[in-house]
Amino acid sequence: MKQTLLALLGSILRAAAVSTVFAGFAFLTKQSMLTWFTVSFIGQFIVFYLYGVYLEYKSVKDKRDLQLKELEILSKITFNVPCAACKHFNEVVINPNDDLKFTCVQCEVENAVYINVESAVITQPINTNI
Ligand SMILES: [Zn+2]
Repeated sequence: MKQTLLALLGSILRAAAVSTVFAGFAFLTKQSMLTWFTVSFIGQFIVFYLYGVYLEYKSVKDKRDLQLKELEILSKITFNVPCAACKHFNEVVINPNDDLKFTCVQCEVENAVYINVESAVITQPINTNI
C-alpha cells in the first residue's frame, strides 16, 4: 500500500514537472500558463492510460501468438523414415499441411513420404478364469 502511494505520488510529481515545462513555454509565448499546465497534466494521464491499454493488448497478442506457435510445433510429428534409395534412416517432420518430401542426408536423393492408414479390429482377451 505504501509503495503504491509512493509510486502514485512519484507519477503525479513527474506529470507536474512536465506540465510546468509546458507552462513555461506558454509563458514564453505569452499564452495562458494555467491552461497549458492543466491540459498537459490531464493529457499525460490520458496518453499513458492509452499506452497502458496498448501494452496490455500487445502482451495478450504476443501470448496468443506464442501459444499458436507452440500448438504448431506440437502438431508436427517426427518419424525416422528410411530413404528409398539407400535405406538410411532420416528424421523427417511430418506435417499433413506441408509437402511430405525430404532429402536424404546420406545420398541427397529427394524422397516423398507416403502415409498408409490402416485399421485393425480390437480383440477382446479370452476369459481364462475357469
Ligand atoms: Zn539415401
